Amino acid sequence: MGQPHMHKPILFLDRDGILVEEDQVDSFEKIRWIPGVFNALRKLREESNYYFAMVSNQDGVGTPSFPSEAFWPVHERIIDTLAGERITFDAQHIDMSLPEDHCPGRKPGIGMLGEYFEGGYDLEHSLMIGDRLTDVQLAKNIGCKAIWFADPSRLEELKQGIAGELGLSETCVLVSDSWQEIAVFILGGKSVKLERRVEIDRRTAETHVAVSLNLDGSGKGSVETGLPFFDHMLAQLIRHSGVDATLHAHGDLQVDEHHTVEDVAIVLGQAFLQALGDKRGISRYGYEVLPMDDVLAQVAIDFSGRPYLVWDAQFSRPSVGTFPTEMFRHFFKSFSDEAKCNLDMRVSEGNAHHQAEALFKAFARAIRQAVHRYPWSDALPSTKGVL
Ligand SMILES: [Mg+2]
Repeated sequence: MGQPHMHKPILFLDRDGILVEEDQVDSFEKIRWIPGVFNALRKLREESNYYFAMVSNQDGVGTPSFPSEAFWPVHERIIDTLAGERITFDAQHIDMSLPEDHCPGRKPGIGMLGEYFEGGYDLEHSLMIGDRLTDVQLAKNIGCKAIWFADPSRLEELKQGIAGELGLSETCVLVSDSWQEIAVFILGGKSVKLERRVEIDRRTAETHVAVSLNLDGSGKGSVETGLPFFDHMLAQLIRHSGVDATLHAHGDLQVDEHHTVEDVAIVLGQAFLQALGDKRGISRYGYEVLPMDDVLAQVAIDFSGRPYLVWDAQFSRPSVGTFPTEMFRHFFKSFSDEAKCNLDMRVSEGNAHHQAEALFKAFARAIRQAVHRYPWSDALPSTKGVL
């Protein structure tokens, strides 16, 4: 046990029944891989910080019924094949006793695993994956959690009979015989916990703006700014970006709409910046080319951490409804400043209502792509190490 592994969680992995099919695997012909194991373990190896430890019972290796020379070359082939897919083990613990030997190293005994109890590992966040109830029992004895690699319909077994009496249902966090599902559970589950929600309530002498935003929503929400056309545009933004948001603004409309539009953009931009957090696992870039009858809008966005607006729009009239078209540029400039994003927006000539609506919808669709978070990844989409 070396310093580099200090306080790492451990992924304890059974061999037979989860990597290769359960059998006395004493010839090359008997190596039959469990579907999905390579993809899932490579993802786990690359995208988690688990220490990989194999824990396997190989009954009676070294006895006439299972000679060592029949076990080791086949075992090495299994390990080599996995290594060829960049799946390597930090440690291997193989107990070769027979059940009647009652050896302390035999699962669910922890006799082979003493090194993990000396304080250098994060056992609480460690996981055991195995296909037998003795694997779940081993996890309980270690003090970690278990994934029981079994048909999910066997969940009831955990709660009843001997397994129920042993209290294994608290240890077992998942029953699954799908490597894909297990990998999503381990890797995706981690990021699902981090909600991307934010609420901002901003009051100035000119306006009061309250925004709640959930980036992982379904396009639901409500808008009330006192400016009907603006409400219509913001409703499009919510609907087509797929975020959930409520946005309420009370501004000094008796003066004019300038402060209200600007402050809504400021608060909305701040909400996106905060909700994106450290931006790990996001797509970062988004773009949309969107037609609307006579008009074509193009929007590209980059949540780069730097504000910049490129704006190419000539509106065909000075207002839409009661809304001055000159305010659109100001809205997007303020958003870009606060969300710290590059925004490139262009729209062709045409009907002014269509021009505005096409821009807002394309903006929304570009945002939808850019804030998308990949369930597999918490990588930062930048070579600079920060966004
Ligand atoms: Mg097994």
